[in-house]
Amino acid sequence: MTDTTDTILVTGAAGFIGAYTCRELRARGANVVGLDNYNDYYDPQLKRDRVAALCPDVEIAQIDLTDRVALEALFDKHRFGRVIHLAAQAGVRYSLENPHAYVDSNLIGFVNMLELCRHRGVEHLVYASSSSVYGDSATPPFSEAQRIDRPRSLYAATKAANELMAHTYAHLYGLRATGLRFFTVYGPWGRPDMAPLLFSRAVLAGRPIQVFNHGRMRRDFTHIDDIVAGVLGAMDAPARPAGENAAEGGPHRVYNLGNHTPVELERFIAVIEQAAGRPAEKNYLPMQPGDMVETMADTARAQADFGFEPATPIDTGLPPVVRWCRDYFGDKA
Ligand code: NAD
Repeated sequence: MTDTTDTILVTGAAGFIGAYTCRELRARGANVVGLDNYNDYYDPQLKRDRVAALCPDVEIAQIDLTDRVALEALFDKHRFGRVIHLAAQAGVRYSLENPHAYVDSNLIGFVNMLELCRHRGVEHLVYASSSSVYGDSATPPFSEAQRIDRPRSLYAATKAANELMAHTYAHLYGLRATGLRFFTVYGPWGRPDMAPLLFSRAVLAGRPIQVFNHGRMRRDFTHIDDIVAGVLGAMDAPARPAGENAAEGGPHRVYNLGNHTPVELERFIAVIEQAAGRPAEKNYLPMQPGDMVETMADTARAQADFGFEPATPIDTGLPPVVRWCRDYFGDKA
């Protein structure tokens, strides 16, 4: 045992949200240990470069969430008081092609984390859920009180399942768990499989972009800085009094973390065109299976419980992403 309960484990630490979370935790002077398997869902070199740029002083154990022996050994080595669990197989469309990756990382891996948190005395598990849980059962603005029982993809189903699993552990064992439903996160060092980077790179390189549902989509694009503020706000929020959230299952709570300002895809592309200094060549395509037409977070609960106040509109948040793509990908944009 090398440390005390002050140590925070961040899983998915080489990922987009994880690396920024590690950076902010280190800036606040926290003891942080990371975990990531550096898988090749997208270029692992981008993950390594991201870690080098954002959180070079964080030790990141290369472990897969399904490897229970290695996970046990990590928890033997450190005494984690809090766990921020962000590692997962992300992506809606990929879940149609490769369902087993979602079962392994998001279901088996999630149970492994719950078990370790339960048995190793973790005081608070903060984990990533997703706006995609709202699927067909909710209407925007999405509030946490709405139903989430009609997911549109296996990815969404695994995230909804995570919330049920966390509820169970909170209810049965008193494990404090907080689920965060992130809404389309963007920023420099973002995910290369998501629209902000796909569009920025294509426009910079003069390649056509694929605009689904003929551009009739509205997304609650949320800047990474606002997300990280929300993750740490949720982690630090005082535990709610027993009984107050009994309907949610003991000390389990879920929160939307979104910008609360959905943006038309066409307007989003216009900001990229402006920043890139060239027009986009748009290929309009039908709606993709699994996608949602509109997402919009009702953030009243997060605001009430830990003062969540997203501050970055796309007009200021998106141009730096285009500039970062130009710098990082250069000719390969
Ligand atoms: P990301 O893919 O950049 O990061 C996830 C990290 O987890 C990756 O570095 C990956 O290597 C690691 N990982 C995946 N499976 C693993 C496994 N089995 N064992 C160990 N490590 C593993 O994704 P992100 O955008 O940073 O997302 C972080 C979390 O937030 C995920 O749970 C994701 O589902 C959720 N989320 C993200 C968004 C978004 O817009 N970015 C929206 C909703 C929810």
